[in-house]
Amino acid sequence: MEKLIIIGGGVSGWTAAIYAARANLEPLIFTGLEIGGQLMLTTEVENFPGFPEGIKGPELMQNLKKQAEKFGARVVPKSVTGFKKIKEGYEVLVGKEKFSSKIVIISTGASARWLGIPGEKKYQGRGLHTCATCDGFFYKNKEILVVGGGDSACEEANFLTKFAKKVTIVHRKDNLRASKIMRERVEKNPKIEFMWDSEIVEFKGEKSVEKVLIKNLKTGEKKELKIDGIFLAIGHIPNTKIFEGLVNLDEHGFIITNERRKTNLPGVFAAGDVQDTIYKQAITAAGTGCQAALEAEKYYEEIKGK
Ligand code: NDP
Repeated sequence: MEKLIIIGGGVSGWTAAIYAARANLEPLIFTGLEIGGQLMLTTEVENFPGFPEGIKGPELMQNLKKQAEKFGARVVPKSVTGFKKIKEGYEVLVGKEKFSSKIVIISTGASARWLGIPGEKKYQGRGLHTCATCDGFFYKNKEILVVGGGDSACEEANFLTKFAKKVTIVHRKDNLRASKIMRERVEKNPKIEFMWDSEIVEFKGEKSVEKVLIKNLKTGEKKELKIDGIFLAIGHIPNTKIFEGLVNLDEHGFIITNERRKTNLPGVFAAGDVQDTIYKQAITAAGTGCQAALEAEKYYEEIKGK
């Protein structure tokens, strides 16, 4: 039996690992194949306290990992495929491998949402992307679309103007829900245009996306648009599939926690975006990761020897 298993290697998981390792819980952290969670997909993180000049997402993740390992966290770069309740506690499955513990912190985060329209699967990574930081570079002097009206869409659109000739934000409403500072940035950017009340209904092209079919939601009119690339920034879906039926989830699939990051299961805590429907910030993920680890430590003391 492990003293503590942490599932998920984003900012909340690493923070939990740092705190738990310093408390001698020798956490085993499953990070998935790509260590680092959503921050690996961001450019400059400007609002993480302590970095007045900003810090690159991947660099912040490397620092967190290094810090957790320094205190004895054990890192397994594999994806957890199952989660079960057993008599002694909980079993975490990684393919055929089994790990068990009485205490688990779930920090599996959330993944990019897709539109779910024809052609989407075929073009993933071929003109259709969800991460500007990862793929923006390929669009030097090109014309691209960003779909969405939130902070992510604005951030991605701004970032993409470093490369692209023109970026058009396609949004299904006639105003952005993004924060004021983000809105102002895109509105001031001369390379950014807007296509309001519009929805992409189909992707077209030979090997990669060449055109999109766009519907105006007010008039119902559809038109084809020639385009070099598209970046979706329409929110995220929590990674909670493996916990369904065991851990209580809300109607959108986010884990329900109380103010102490406790789930409905004794000894199971959740932290970060997987349970955050309000703030969704790196710093709040770190904060809840810390809370979960402190609660795990308390719980460990309570059940020790039982
Ligand atoms: P949001 O949920 O805030 O926004 C998603 C956007 O996508 C909305 O405009 C929504 O439209 C649109 N959308 C959703 N589904 C579809 C669909 N099927 N078709 C077309 N459009 C769709 O997600 P974000 O990722 O932008 O932000 C998540 C959180 O992270 C927020 O709290 C945000 O503030 C934060 N964030 C902060 C950043 C920062 O401070 N640097 C950077 C990025 C994110 P509609 O408006 O009609 O609902």
